[in-house]
Amino acid sequence: MEFSILAGAFERMEGTRKRLELTQHLVDLFGKTPPETISRIVYLIQGKLRPDFEGVELGVAEKLAIRAISKSSGAPAREVEEAYGREGDLGAAASAVLGRKAQTTFAAEDITVERVYETLLRIARLGGSRSQDMKMRYISSLLNDATPGEARFVLKLLLGTLRLGVAENTVMDALAIRYAGSKSSRADLERAYNVSSDLGRVAEAVSGGGVEALGGFRAAVFSPIRPMLAERVRSGGEAAARMGSEFAAEYKLDGERIQLHISKPEGRTVLFSRRLENITSYYPDIVERIPPLVRAEDAVLEAEAVAVGADSGEFLPFQELMHRRRKYGVERAVSEYPITVNFFDVLYCNGRSCLGEGYGRRRRMLEEIVAEDDYARLVTAATVGGEGDVEEFMENSINSGCEGLMLKALDAAYRAGARGGSWLKLKREYRNELGDSLDLVVIGAFFGRGRRTGRYGTLLLASYDDGADSFPSICKVGTGFTDECLDQLYQVLSGRVAARRDPRVDSGMEPDVWFEPGLVIEVVASEITLSPVHRSAKDAVRRGAGLALRFPKFTGRIRLEKAAEDASTDEEVVALYRGQRKVSQGADPAGRG
Ligand code: ATP
Repeated sequence: MEFSILAGAFERMEGTRKRLELTQHLVDLFGKTPPETISRIVYLIQGKLRPDFEGVELGVAEKLAIRAISKSSGAPAREVEEAYGREGDLGAAASAVLGRKAQTTFAAEDITVERVYETLLRIARLGGSRSQDMKMRYISSLLNDATPGEARFVLKLLLGTLRLGVAENTVMDALAIRYAGSKSSRADLERAYNVSSDLGRVAEAVSGGGVEALGGFRAAVFSPIRPMLAERVRSGGEAAARMGSEFAAEYKLDGERIQLHISKPEGRTVLFSRRLENITSYYPDIVERIPPLVRAEDAVLEAEAVAVGADSGEFLPFQELMHRRRKYGVERAVSEYPITVNFFDVLYCNGRSCLGEGYGRRRRMLEEIVAEDDYARLVTAATVGGEGDVEEFMENSINSGCEGLMLKALDAAYRAGARGGSWLKLKREYRNELGDSLDLVVIGAFFGRGRRTGRYGTLLLASYDDGADSFPSICKVGTGFTDECLDQLYQVLSGRVAARRDPRVDSGMEPDVWFEPGLVIEVVASEITLSPVHRSAKDAVRRGAGLALRFPKFTGRIRLEKAAEDASTDEEVVALYRGQRKVSQGADPAGRG
């Protein structure tokens, strides 16, 4: 398939943010795509090469790209940099510089989607700095044969700056229209995606074999399953009203969610995070100690790994687990920062999917499969039946060092990939002023003074606008940071410094440094007010005004397990804003300016 077809589609898609139009462009593109190429197209339109859980990342540095453009065009690097400064985008700069050359030479051969994809994949798999020359050769060979218009997108893919705003749901809509033709088949597509977490593979199946081919997607070991999520409630009363007369309550532990895939015949264990990244290397202790405690040939289990005090065995806060996220010295971290593994679900066991079973049955299976000891436990659970029960169990949970409760409908199947009403969460913080904490993206920083000199003193934060795929600013935060935490943040954030404001970032403020949106931190605040400067949920409450947090405070939780796109959305911010208005009985808490 000629790459020019894909580049043309990219260009049309760049021109719109409307979901229906994007869907139509995708439908047209799929119509021109042969089944053997469609998985690559599906990854590329999302700026990826493989499904997220494989962890294949391009990450070509701008410097290297500039050298490659210079080599292919014959123009000095300085000229490329100037064009970059002018155009504000390296893809456009390449297009301009190569365009001049194209007037004098002919492209040697048409480039195909397959060739671009394979080359990008090779570049991604070349690790380390010694491979820079090799990478450059690959890039310039593509640029030599690309037209200027194609080169623009080759570079955007290489640098990871292609932002079409196509969410997975939009891709599934387009696949359904193109290959499946009915609403019910949209549900089949979603199911196949939820159990495989690989949209490319789903697209390949449906384009080659229609909806019937989707029947072949089943839960399996080593194929990560998209996690079921919970809706939040504010009180035991609300939980009881929504759940009915009898339901399950479990302690909500404050750790890291882990999906364990274990195969005894293969002697292999793989761990996935909530975002389905492969995190096996951070937890060698789990790989060693859990399989002997599991009474099954193979299984997919869900657990919360929680840091515990080495002597006391008490639960420690989530951020202690940060120490486990390292490349080197893992063995030392295992002994210095011990954990317990607390199981709460079974998704697959002895060759069979358990997703369709009700919660009660899955919990009984879990009790049979997992042999508990000091290290592996089942989360504390009880069957409850009303507000009083919930309140009492909540108190026990908080007293045991947990952050609240998960409430689960007894007969509910495991709904992979869904945030539905059959799981509710009741957190301690929900009872405080704003009623909730927010997970926000760090988009910029101001340098500190005094004790904070040489570090970032204040961070600029954003929510996520999932409609526009952008990060509008919502507040500055400078409280709640310990010295250790400031050091840690400085280290993590210095790797994300961007030369200029990312096009997806929207703010009326000019911080000292901008970051590529990626790091998510948790914040509480006293209230949400209208703001002329911040852009979160702009126009949603009042035309021309955004929403901002008043007296925000960092809770100490860096949400490494969340991507920028998992941050609190503008919609959630508006809901919180409206929630506080209700609490104050109609008075506008933002009214005083
Ligand atoms: P949060 O910010 O509350 O952690 P989230 O968006 O990460 O929310 P939710 O589904 O909303 O995810 O909340 C459930 C999370 O709580 C799970 O992802 C899991 O990590 C954690 N958890 C702790 N204890 C349990 C439990 N008993 N059952 C299910 N999840 C639990």
